[in-house]
Amino acid sequence: MDVEQETEGANTVSEAEGFHYCDVEVPVSSEHPDRKCSHKFQITSGTTSNLITHLCTNHNISKPAEEQKVNYK
Ligand SMILES: [Zn+2]
Repeated sequence: MDVEQETEGANTVSEAEGFHYCDVEVPVSSEHPDRKCSHKFQITSGTTSNLITHLCTNHNISKPAEEQKVNYK
């Protein structure tokens, strides 16, 4: 089965075998020896809300598509 690459924006997320993986760079630690968060998300019916929540709360990153939903004053 072919692996589809996420091409939108920065390389913060990769996709493989039905899961999203967080590729955000983090400080090296015993948990993150390769400097990647590597948090794993099951892809459920096309929604990325868990992923977006993770990026927002853990890395202070929000996707442009989400930012556009915010009402600017
Ligand atoms: Zn992460």
